[in-house]
Amino acid sequence: MTADSSSPGRLERALTSLRGLAVGDALGSQFFVPANYPLLKRRELPEAPWQWTDDTEMACSVVAVLATHHRIDQDALARSFAEHHDFDRGYGPAVNRLLRLVREGGDWRELAAGLFNGQGSWGNGAAMRIAPLGAWYADDPEQATHQAEISAYTTHQHREAVVGAMAVAAAAALAGSPDGPPAPEALIDGVVALVPKSAVGQGLRRARDMLDYDDAATVAAVLGCGRRTTAHDTVPFALWSAARALGDYETAFWTTAQVGGDVDTTCAIVGGVLAAGKAGAPPAAWVQRTEALPHWVPTGV
Ligand SMILES: [Mg+2]
Repeated sequence: MTADSSSPGRLERALTSLRGLAVGDALGSQFFVPANYPLLKRRELPEAPWQWTDDTEMACSVVAVLATHHRIDQDALARSFAEHHDFDRGYGPAVNRLLRLVREGGDWRELAAGLFNGQGSWGNGAAMRIAPLGAWYADDPEQATHQAEISAYTTHQHREAVVGAMAVAAAAALAGSPDGPPAPEALIDGVVALVPKSAVGQGLRRARDMLDYDDAATVAAVLGCGRRTTAHDTVPFALWSAARALGDYETAFWTTAQVGGDVDTTCAIVGGVLAAGKAGAPPAAWVQRTEALPHWVPTGV
């Protein structure tokens, strides 16, 4: 069976993944509030509404550009990021400044290339927003990685950040297979085969070796869970967690959130990848408690 490659079919998949991403981001971000730490241990939900953060805001731009252009148009994507940039959504300082300058007429190519003394950002920001693109390309995982690569450069030009985005998009595309979710090993193997040599790729190989570990805290200690907010410190653990629980959003969420780190982002990645698959949507009650998506996100063709 092949996935529906029509635009309405693709958009529907991308929106489903986006909702999963938004729930992970919004609920995950509740656990930065120390008063909610005990709830996390007991797997109890905090008070609603849950506001989403930069992860969701940027993912909305990815979906909006795909709906309009049917691929990633870098200028349109950079423009959408800049136009919809809300300073209070928890962006990192470098991206806050970059998007302000783009909004004021700056060239994203120069600005993104100039970050961090010309190395480009290796933050997890290109990966955190990209799962819905993978869902869009569930019929073509290779194209998913290619378009994810192009999308990353608008803000994150360091190789690790770019490969991190490619890996998450590949995972979402594979999770969205019409034949149902792949086995954990098959998912990670599929992603590894689609990404170039990198620290992210090395981390994914290590994640593959640790799929039979049940102690997420140990795995997070080895792979990283976003404490340094780099792509290579974030993506391998998030995909380890997603691969082990494809089709079970709640388990995937709690496992990911409980290890701490950059929780809104690891949970946004996991939520977006899970919801790219047919059985991986978040519980309806969780969706209801999550802040609605912004009005400018296209909801149908
Ligand atoms: Mg965030």
